[in-house]
Amino acid sequence: MRAVGFQWRGLALKVSPKSNPEPFPVMRSMLLVGAAIVAMMAAMPVLAQTAAPTPAPAPPASPADVQALLAPWTGPYGGLVPFDKVKVSAFKPALEEAMAQNLAEVDAIADNPKPPTFDNTIVALERAGKAGARVFTLYGVWTSNLATPDVQAVDTEMSPRLAEFQDKIAQNAKLFARVDALYKARDTLHLTPEQKQLVWVYWANGVKQGAQLAPDAKAKVTAINQKLASLYTAFSQNLLADEAGYVLYLKADDLAGLPQALKDAAAGAAADKGHKGEYAILNTRSSMDPFLTYSDRRDLREKVWRTFYSRGDNRDAHDNTRTIIPEILKLRAEKAHLMGYPNYAAWKLQDEMAKTPENAMALMLKVWPAAVARIHEEVADMQKVADAEHPQGTPGAIKIEAWDYRYYAEKVRKAKYDLDMNQVKPYLQLDKVRDGMFWAAGQLYGFTFTRVEGVPTFAPAMQVYEVKDRAGRHVGLWYFDPYARPGKNSGAWMDAYRPQQTLDGSTPTIVSNNANFVKPPPGQPVLISWDDGVTMFHEFGHALHGLNSNVTYPTLASPSQAQDFVEFPSQLNENWLSTPEVLSRFAVDVNGKPIPADLVAKIQKSKTFNTGFTVGEYLASAIMDMKFHMADPATIGDPDVFEKTELAKLNMPSEMVMRHRTPQFSHIFSGDGYAAGYYSYLWAEVLDHDAYEAFTEAGGPYDKAVAKRLHDDIMQVGYSVPPDVAYRNFRGRDPEVAAYLRSKGFPVEAAAPAPRAAGTK
Ligand SMILES: [Zn+2]
Repeated sequence: MRAVGFQWRGLALKVSPKSNPEPFPVMRSMLLVGAAIVAMMAAMPVLAQTAAPTPAPAPPASPADVQALLAPWTGPYGGLVPFDKVKVSAFKPALEEAMAQNLAEVDAIADNPKPPTFDNTIVALERAGKAGARVFTLYGVWTSNLATPDVQAVDTEMSPRLAEFQDKIAQNAKLFARVDALYKARDTLHLTPEQKQLVWVYWANGVKQGAQLAPDAKAKVTAINQKLASLYTAFSQNLLADEAGYVLYLKADDLAGLPQALKDAAAGAAADKGHKGEYAILNTRSSMDPFLTYSDRRDLREKVWRTFYSRGDNRDAHDNTRTIIPEILKLRAEKAHLMGYPNYAAWKLQDEMAKTPENAMALMLKVWPAAVARIHEEVADMQKVADAEHPQGTPGAIKIEAWDYRYYAEKVRKAKYDLDMNQVKPYLQLDKVRDGMFWAAGQLYGFTFTRVEGVPTFAPAMQVYEVKDRAGRHVGLWYFDPYARPGKNSGAWMDAYRPQQTLDGSTPTIVSNNANFVKPPPGQPVLISWDDGVTMFHEFGHALHGLNSNVTYPTLASPSQAQDFVEFPSQLNENWLSTPEVLSRFAVDVNGKPIPADLVAKIQKSKTFNTGFTVGEYLASAIMDMKFHMADPATIGDPDVFEKTELAKLNMPSEMVMRHRTPQFSHIFSGDGYAAGYYSYLWAEVLDHDAYEAFTEAGGPYDKAVAKRLHDDIMQVGYSVPPDVAYRNFRGRDPEVAAYLRSKGFPVEAAAPAPRAAGTK
């Protein structure tokens, strides 16, 4: 959840949990390492609060254990990630050693008596920090996938120190002077376009991190970053504690309306917690969401809803609102002022495609009224269903409330579209969906995927695949970690364990997808929801971005990109799940029977169903994120009150809440990643729909010529081309917002402006 790693080199290397049913993933772009957040599937965080086991004091790490984390990776495929050699007790000494090495390398570059050249400065930086990159990768995997109390303890201790380390490098005055000299001379150095972009990336990063500041201002920024790092850790640990600490145990007669699969999962979850014979509704999105969709018990729906949306907001030991959020906002504003920006959002967006918070806000506020209008229509439809069951004035009559939205939406879905999403599930077997992703990637990019065994993993059920190109050449490895476990972040995300590069010979990439499906009994398939299928394609889109990378310098390797662009390839990839070519082959039940055509037609028809809700809950969060980071913290006061007041000004419908209420908004408060950056999902989604129409305007989803342009202009170039230029190369024009609005069933005004923005330079 925090950015750790070598900031000079850091752009969105670690990408992307996606949280959301509809295309509103949730990710954080990270520097070299980070952890993912965001709920979506039934993760079962078992942490803190209830019976937190005190970790037994670990035996000190041996020098060999420490070296195992730092050493170059060995074995086939350009070296394998040594997951089998990790001892948690070795993390701290290994991180310390990596930081010391990296600082020494950077000092050597900065203190070089020779005048700066591209080679002795930029290339030297690209070659530095390799041991650090290795240990940070492993550390990031443990803090996001295996964050047991012993790992959390290391994390708490190390996060401020890692923040300090980043600042030492980012603020190295002698180093920045060299980069600055190269940047100023960039047009006379005979650099390739990729090299020129790399110089700009280092320069812009340095500026953003305060490299141009006077020494006393730098010291202040460093102190702020360290305080922030500790606050982020506290924020996310509070949230995990509230997710683990509140479990609703139900009896068999409390389950009216719930599908059998949900009952089974709840029974399993209760048994895991020592409540055999009962049914556990966990305080996670993946538990809450289906319960609110199906439970006939309005009293229990309200209870589950209130518990979930009160996470971090209980005014108890795990409260995030009273001190943590105000303190974070204050520190961020101070930092922005030190950097010469009016607010944190303005500082944050300086190197994004959107460029300014005003540009981002303009796009959001353009879409918002359409979403609100649609929400009112949806509520009216739902109220009709409720009134038909219990007319107003009779016992049982209700007015739709926030805990009713999903429940009645499901009834409207059945009535209006005759679509019961439970009918879809038997046709979505996890393994087949994965094979469908492989197939579509084969059609678009020429990739083949072959399972490899005997490769070290960090969990027993992980799968590893070798990826080859059309010519049969090795491209990289794809790791898949599908199942939930204690200490694993909820949600789904992609991680890049090793970026592609050709600087010193060809280094193939290693990427992973991570999810939180519940492991089935032996021999049974994992049946997933349609939304989960979309999420699978989404995360795989990030992986494909990485696998297509074809750059010289590791810093520029895909999926690195500006944050408001990095979700574009992943959101785009979601489109291929619903192509008939994939569905007819891979959406099959356990007997091999493909999903019926009329069911597919209903899914297609219902694509604009409930878009008021999905767009509205996302946008409310994204707009609030920007408001929090544009406002003067002194005027904000209690974050709960600010949230309420600002949403009222937006005419937020009373029947729904923000997807991530402020006290739970991990994307923006458990790290820097998405702070003033949550808008980027919308930004990228506008690109996604506009780009997909390039396919449908041509020969369809598998049009070879458009696929080649997508590969050549977007997927392979990483950050070696600025995002606005890359997009224009692909589409032949700037993006337009109309395709996005059409996709949601929102009215399209003539000549709607789009994310245009000044580009990254
Ligand atoms: Zn994503």
